[in-house]
Amino acid sequence: MRIAIIGAGIGGLAAASLLADQGHEITIFDQFDTPKPVGSGLVIQPVGQAVLAEIGALDQALTYGNRVTHMLGIEANNGARVLDVHYDLVDPDAYGLAIHRAALFDALWQATQTRNRITLIANSDVTSIRQDPDSVEVFTANHTVHGPYDLAIDSSGAGSPLSPIRCKPLGYGAIWGTVDWPENTDLPKHHLSQRYVAASHMIGALPIGTLPDDANFKAAIFWSLPSDGYSSWQNAGLDAWKAEATALWPALTPFLDQITDPDQMTMARYSHGTLKRPYNKRLVHIGDAAHRASPQLGQGANMALLDALALSRALNSRPVEHALPAYARARRLHTKIYQAMSWAFTPMYQSDSKILPILRDRVLFPASQIPPVPRILTRLVCGTMVPPVQRL
Ligand SMILES: Cc1cc2nc3c(=O)[nH]c(=O)nc-3n(C[C@H](O)[C@H](O)[C@H](O)COP(=O)(O)OP(=O)(O)OC[C@H]3O[C@@H](n4cnc5c(N)ncnc54)[C@H](O)[C@@H]3O)c2cc1C
Repeated sequence: MRIAIIGAGIGGLAAASLLADQGHEITIFDQFDTPKPVGSGLVIQPVGQAVLAEIGALDQALTYGNRVTHMLGIEANNGARVLDVHYDLVDPDAYGLAIHRAALFDALWQATQTRNRITLIANSDVTSIRQDPDSVEVFTANHTVHGPYDLAIDSSGAGSPLSPIRCKPLGYGAIWGTVDWPENTDLPKHHLSQRYVAASHMIGALPIGTLPDDANFKAAIFWSLPSDGYSSWQNAGLDAWKAEATALWPALTPFLDQITDPDQMTMARYSHGTLKRPYNKRLVHIGDAAHRASPQLGQGANMALLDALALSRALNSRPVEHALPAYARARRLHTKIYQAMSWAFTPMYQSDSKILPILRDRVLFPASQIPPVPRILTRLVCGTMVPPVQRL
């Protein structure tokens, strides 16, 4: 088939490699002028690592990224643990692959370059599509019509112009930045470390390894902000923020010392929603175009990779009209569970609620330490609480 992929992000690049391997001819459209990702660090969980391995991108991702074995969150005022997940509880070899988005993009991009049938059309801001019963055309902002294609895959992320998804904006987002991992820090390089005050403040440091063009080991740092709080943060000035953050967590001082310009921190706003039917005739949505959630559970990139895998498996042995419902069925349960978990957990870590963080600290965290709950939580984080792709 001739397949158009809209969006050369995590899901789109994964789908391109997997579908090129089945002999399809792939055209990827992206709005960027040269291939480049935006953003800071993220964690690829064991389920996502398995997809990277299938594509042949895991080894490269591992040379850039960093293995995280433990996620530890502490209430800053009383020193109590409120999040404590050990990857090795279920599988002694399991880890989260913490990686900068640019490094993950590079590993996925390199994998596409080993395949013959993939073409990238950059500078293409896709605005719409037109469908006939057997084909689909792609329209870009410069009034060019591309196609016809047998199938269009929408992997254009949270701002998709093609997805009918309706999302609820979340009350909190975060500012994110990337800095060098300081030499004078005692923070362990294999932990995601976070500090909280109730649910209104959260600061974290994720050791993400290196970048394709920078061999210095990096940290992604993040600071929770109300979705409408970015201009207040800017107006208050860097010094006020650094003073507040380092008072809350003095160990972060050598990280924050490297932030000298507010533009080093990028605001990310989050929303939540799921498409009931992630396809329509010859258009199918994957990744954030099909479901969105806060990054609290660290699953979004993994979900995009799993969607790409499920879609490629569905298309392997079926015509499009049967393959798209099969893809939706294969991902339904996993997506439903993780969206529900994210919806339930996010306000405990990012909200103005006074009650939820008390519940988190006094009831849920102690309960989470009683076997077998720690193993269940580890499975939740690893992405394996339910089968990620149902048998087709
Ligand atoms: C701050 C933050 C932290 C996160 N942390 C984690 C984490 O720890 N673990 C995790 O698994 N997930 C995390 N996520 C979520 C994860 O980044 C997303 O879920 C994931 O990137 C979705 O992949 P995607 O392929 O759907 O879209 P993206 O990777 O966003 O790719 C979309 C692509 O489409 C292109 N595009 C957009 N519009 C158009 C258009 N009109 N025409 C052409 N091209 C277009 C864009 O340029 C981009 O290249 C985080 C997200 C944020 C914001």
